Amino acid sequence: MTYADRDLSLDSKKRKEKKGRDHFAHIPRFLSKQHREFASIFEAVNALPIDDTHCHIITDKDAVTTPQRFLERISLAGYAVPGYFPDGVYERWLHGDEVTRSELNKRFNIQPTLDAITYDLSHSVFIKFLVKELAEFLECEPRLEAVIEARNDRGRNYWAYINGLFRDVNYENIVLDTGYAEGHGAREIAQFEDAILPCRTYRISRIETLQRELFPLEITFEEFEQRYKAKLSEVLDGDGNYGKKSYGMKSYLLPFIGLIRPLHDRRPAEASWQSLRSSFDKLPSMDRESAFLVTKDLRRYTFTLALEECLKRNIPMQIHTGDGEAPEVILRNQDPFYLEEVVRFDHDNVMRMPKIIPLHAGFPSVGKAAWLSHIYPNCYFELSIMTPFVHQNLYQRYLQVMEVVPLSKILFASDAYHIPELYWLAGRWGKRYLAQALTELVVGGALGVDEAIDAASMILYKNNRSLYKVNGLPS
Ligand SMILES: [Zn+2]
Repeated sequence: MTYADRDLSLDSKKRKEKKGRDHFAHIPRFLSKQHREFASIFEAVNALPIDDTHCHIITDKDAVTTPQRFLERISLAGYAVPGYFPDGVYERWLHGDEVTRSELNKRFNIQPTLDAITYDLSHSVFIKFLVKELAEFLECEPRLEAVIEARNDRGRNYWAYINGLFRDVNYENIVLDTGYAEGHGAREIAQFEDAILPCRTYRISRIETLQRELFPLEITFEEFEQRYKAKLSEVLDGDGNYGKKSYGMKSYLLPFIGLIRPLHDRRPAEASWQSLRSSFDKLPSMDRESAFLVTKDLRRYTFTLALEECLKRNIPMQIHTGDGEAPEVILRNQDPFYLEEVVRFDHDNVMRMPKIIPLHAGFPSVGKAAWLSHIYPNCYFELSIMTPFVHQNLYQRYLQVMEVVPLSKILFASDAYHIPELYWLAGRWGKRYLAQALTELVVGGALGVDEAIDAASMILYKNNRSLYKVNGLPS
């Protein structure tokens, strides 16, 4: 019997009771009416399927891990770790033998630096809460070391473990951003997609992935333009996204340049291409702001070409907003209001309504992302990063969002990466705290119970299906 089988073999009634009890344990004591309402709303919401509108591949790289490595891989602060040492040093240390590691420790102080970072991570409420939640799923003691030990045990059948996590919270569809894959390709993406079946995957393509291969080439601007356009149509209409088509595009431009003004004029883009040619070799030694400035107009132009293609096909563009993966991002550039010109996409002073999804709830500028979606009918609101990294107070954030964004435009997402438990936590906490927020709206008289359940269905999966024009049929 596999571990996944063991989970599935739990008698469903017992399992439901267990889950109900566990979820109540984390809810503050309500007045009794609220508590009763929560019980029925939670039961209905918890049974719903989930579609994840923005997330990433999981590989078997973290099948067996250590508490320290787990903390590093699950946290946003962990992205920055290699950046605190000269290029390539951390990778050599990570994969090196004892001698190499101790030599590199002496020269670069790697282990103590990592210890200090992960000590603080281990003292975050997020990790302490996660440990208790995972201990229930893994049926072990609620200590990080015990959780990692139980997890490593399951890691011997890692794909079944991942499948069990997906089924436990009822994922039915995911929209996979293939632009972050840690160097992995078609084989690993397909392996992940197979492992999570019957949950279906719909891929989206990242503009940066398409242009990354072209930026180093010594070709004319015209040729660059032609090749970029050909790649766009390959990913959108052919099988250019690692062997499959794409259902939308993704851009990572905002954290690089801030305010995005669309650029239709080829001339500034061509000038930017020429300065890229003359400074390409110097880019690695330039500071990040100066380096991004070199390609700013070129990237505005490729972004605009991609958005025109999305508009033609009436498919969405996801745009990285808020959040922040050091060391590349520039946090102050990620204000959701910097997307207004993109959302408008004016032509002859008429707004053209491309479907725009600012990602990561604009976190921490949640109110601005919500307000942008309130004002512009073609702008959506996506919940990832905030879900699951904000936890018990997630219900207050959901209330804030639902107060101004139409329920038909709010999209559930996890932004899960590296660690598959992020999918599970996002689903588990997303449903629990959405039910809690909806309970407040019901008790306050804003929504009837049926309307609240309809709202949850829209947010958790229906909006996603209508936006990407997928209905749950196999891709
Ligand atoms: Zn992401």
